[in-house]
Amino acid sequence: MSMIENLENIKKHGMEEFLKNEKIRWTCTECGGTVCVHKSNCSNCGRKI
Ligand SMILES: [Zn+2]
Repeated sequence: MSMIENLENIKKHGMEEFLKNEKIRWTCTECGGTVCVHKSNCSNCGRKI
């Protein structure tokens, strides 16, 4: 494996981790709905985050 491939892997997995964390952050813990970024409450059940 070359250095460039290593860097590409880190970049790829780093982005996946980032997206995973973002998904957790904006998912309602109560119903699994999407949390409104601007209002900070769930668009599905209205739970305040
Ligand atoms: Zn909810």
